[in-house]
Amino acid sequence: MTVRTRFAPSPTGYLHIGGARTALFSWLYARRFNGKFILRIEDTDALRSTKDSIQAILDGMNWLGLVWDEGPFYQSEMFGTYRKFADELLEKGVCYRCYCTPEELEQRREAALKEGRPPKYDGRCANRADRPDGSDAPFAVRFKVPPGTTVVHDVIKGHISFDNSSIEDLVILRSDRTPTYNFCVVVDDAIMNITHVIRGDDHINNTPKQILLYKALGRDVPVFAHLPMILGADKTRLSKRHGATSVMAYKEMGYLPHALVNYLARLGWSSGDEEIFSIDELVEKFSLEQVGKSAGVFNPEKLLWLNHHYIKASDPAMLAFELIPFLDALGISVKHDDRLVRIVKTLMERSKTLKEMAESSLFYFKEKAAYDEKAAGKFLTSDNAGIFNELIGRLEGLSGFDEKGVESAFNEILESRGIKLGKLAQPVRVALTGGTVSPGIYEMINAMGREMTLSRLKHAVEFMQGARTA
Ligand code: GLU
Repeated sequence: MTVRTRFAPSPTGYLHIGGARTALFSWLYARRFNGKFILRIEDTDALRSTKDSIQAILDGMNWLGLVWDEGPFYQSEMFGTYRKFADELLEKGVCYRCYCTPEELEQRREAALKEGRPPKYDGRCANRADRPDGSDAPFAVRFKVPPGTTVVHDVIKGHISFDNSSIEDLVILRSDRTPTYNFCVVVDDAIMNITHVIRGDDHINNTPKQILLYKALGRDVPVFAHLPMILGADKTRLSKRHGATSVMAYKEMGYLPHALVNYLARLGWSSGDEEIFSIDELVEKFSLEQVGKSAGVFNPEKLLWLNHHYIKASDPAMLAFELIPFLDALGISVKHDDRLVRIVKTLMERSKTLKEMAESSLFYFKEKAAYDEKAAGKFLTSDNAGIFNELIGRLEGLSGFDEKGVESAFNEILESRGIKLGKLAQPVRVALTGGTVSPGIYEMINAMGREMTLSRLKHAVEFMQGARTA
């Protein structure tokens, strides 16, 4: 048997954290068993489905690397198929024509609620052949729920029994011949040969209805795995109050897709005490049996920690590519070159996001260092002009401008003057960056390059001599 899983989002908004986790688990499961992962867009609700949402979902999946093998399939293009299956069920006698009007149904619903009865359809059309008024006005197709018990064998939740008498005869085709949600899902999962339905547990009450429909269609019931919800820190359902919930918002905030994938994988699934997983490891280790029963709590700090981890572990040349759009957003237009890669290397250890990296790299790109007043007052003092001039001379004399050469230029000065590194490094740092916090001095100078370093040091000397202000 080939494992076939699917992700079936309704395109009524962006791809959110919960949807992405569902997609990831379905994707991982298919990859784990060399199966197929199918993307199906459930856009039968024409009023709520939008093209922008579809695009946002596709963008989010692509960004996360959740590549689908088949699709995207659109339910809106499948109405003919759903009608054909509904007509077949009608023919087979497991469905019936329902002539009740929406107004009548609503009246009965209200009456039932008033009397404290469950507002379930009373089955009055089940044994009727024609419209009560004799006209040929359209009818809805209702599924006749058989008596008995339906058990959902859920890989995560265990066995859950539903008494069929609690399930109403559901409409599968409305009187305007549009299909309803549960029916579309079942027809699609059946014709797409889905073997494992992995989805949020907000769907669990739909599952017995769907199982009954599979059986009515004479199809195999897939394996079900309902994922527990994702909660915010306050244990309420994850929402915007708990931080960004859109996958693409994390891209914009400078997260790496792998960090989010790793984070989402661990949100409800575990493999021992491990926290860090490559994609290959996830594919190798993922199992539905290891998905926890209780709701996962979204922890933005942990996600940030993972992002920092992956930034530190990334290839600087790759990271430089990722950084370019963030620099662009700050008005800095740069090409991918050696200098950018060197700059990235100086900032990887200290940047938790690409956005933060872009912000802290600005001093490398501005025309001159914008001096922090206090720092300049403390370090760019006239008595430092001599040592700066000496440094300028030594740096100008270097044949290369690599870290080693820069370091030896510093060391010679420190030795000849008998001073400690901080005495020289701190003023140089202010001269080059404007502030007192920066990456390691030698790697920073190396990344900044000869021209910019010398011009900033010279500018600082003029500043010290009172000839110029910052
Ligand atoms: N379209 C449904 C949703 O977005 C998912 C249905 C399913 O996975 O069966 O929640």
